[in-house]
Amino acid sequence: QDRIMLGPLVAAIDQGTSSTRFLVFNAKTAELLSHHQVEIKQSFPKEGWVEEDPKEILQSVYECMDKTCEKLTQLNIDISNIKAIGVTNQRETTIVWDKETGEPLYNAIVWLDLRTQSTVERLINKTPGRNKNHLKHKTGLPISTYFSAVKLRWLMDNVDEVSEAIHSHKAMFGTVDSWLIWCLTGGKNGGVHCTDVTNASRTMLFNIHTLDWDPELCSYFGIPMEVLPKVRSSSEIYGLMKISSSVKSGSLTGIPISGCLGDQSAALVGQMCFQDGQAKNTYGTGCFLLRNTGPKPVMSDHGLLTTIAYQLGRDKPACYALEGSVAIAGAVVRWLKDNLGIIQTLSELEKLAAAVGTSYGCYFVPAFSGLYAPYWEPSARGIICGLTQFTNRSHIAFAALEAVCFQTRELMDAMNQDSGIPLTQLQVDGGMTSNRLLMQLQADILCIPVVKPSMPETTALGAAMAAGSAEGVSVWSLNLEDLSEVTSEKFEPQINPEESEFRYARWKKAVQKCMNWET
Ligand code: ADP
Repeated sequence: QDRIMLGPLVAAIDQGTSSTRFLVFNAKTAELLSHHQVEIKQSFPKEGWVEEDPKEILQSVYECMDKTCEKLTQLNIDISNIKAIGVTNQRETTIVWDKETGEPLYNAIVWLDLRTQSTVERLINKTPGRNKNHLKHKTGLPISTYFSAVKLRWLMDNVDEVSEAIHSHKAMFGTVDSWLIWCLTGGKNGGVHCTDVTNASRTMLFNIHTLDWDPELCSYFGIPMEVLPKVRSSSEIYGLMKISSSVKSGSLTGIPISGCLGDQSAALVGQMCFQDGQAKNTYGTGCFLLRNTGPKPVMSDHGLLTTIAYQLGRDKPACYALEGSVAIAGAVVRWLKDNLGIIQTLSELEKLAAAVGTSYGCYFVPAFSGLYAPYWEPSARGIICGLTQFTNRSHIAFAALEAVCFQTRELMDAMNQDSGIPLTQLQVDGGMTSNRLLMQLQADILCIPVVKPSMPETTALGAAMAAGSAEGVSVWSLNLEDLSEVTSEKFEPQINPEESEFRYARWKKAVQKCMNWET
């Protein structure tokens, strides 16, 4: 059979908290041609601890590449048409490895992990006025368990292998993007140790104004700068793929890796939110609402983060975003399945909740990892309240979905207050958006329409766009306006605003009850 002639293709590695994907797009039409997805194991060795295995993460990337290449071959599509690869990743998750052996020195500490709570409290107590926003003017972030610097500090203080490797100048630190790019470009045999500005802006060691590592921040956390990766823009050639020719994806060797964006930034790009004021909300393990604020960082007065949205080229300006981060969204669904066993599969949740169509006055605040935006309260813990004799598992399932919607409402309110210009609709994406009940509930609770693109892989698309349009690659020939025509589905609010406000007020009451649980 003849090979199908498609023109250039661009691939993306999407390494999320719950799974890894490899996807291949047509660079002329943005059509998704083939992809493969592999789940990632999470371990919870102690209460509040969340780890993943860096080698399993790497293996999952190889497996996804192998399977996708196999599928492309079956479709008669020539793998050599892939001209660039982009990387997008779970942010903040911290890995330290030995540059001589290539071996990780500890598991990856996942962004959600709470083990650094006491370190964070100690740091905040040291600041004038016990101010968690002490470093915000440089980083855009509050001092929290969430960001990489405290996780790296913990590794240095608690893992002998890490402190020894740092002492003997063998340690490399990276978020998942750095780990993957280093491994995929040759690892201990000349791998490239780099990250992009969006990922760097989540470490708390990066100055979001100067776009560089900040010596003062590094000394505040006691972190030697030599372990840090080189910071690059989100769209440029970092290095070429170097993979053993014995595996199927070995034929990807030599392809440039030329795009790198933290997952939430990639989704913003993939949703074409390039204008000041445009916003998207992604529902994955957590939930992240980002609003583009253009080339100037805007500092929030309402508990939002200031972060780098993207820098699409070495000579291009950085664009900033205001971000509302919620730690637990899809993770609560996994919890209902794995810990309570009230559903056997994730997709069963929708049917279970739809069977009652109400929480019957039950409210579920899934503050498993404390509360992130807008509260930043590490000592909050989860609560299910308003229970009666009548409450059943369907009501709890419904309350879990509603919790995701209320948390998003809190982010939107904060964002509207900070910017003074209310959102008139919300663009959404992420694994949870396949749940149509959730989408309808979200429109009801926000009182504005919710718009979901028909191609759900916007995070990967953003990384592919960055990779395909990098200098020296330039195969992404798609007009942005063409893409803004992409088909989407709209969910309109269906309940009256008073009903919505009543439920939201109850939610706020429940949130107050879960505060300061651990203190
Ligand atoms: P991440 O990028 O964080 O790995 P994804 O965007 O892949 O996340 O989404 C996965 C999350 O979506 C999981 O936490 C899962 O519990 C949730 N999820 C998947 N399918 C459904 C569904 N049908 N209803 C509700 N939640 C779902």
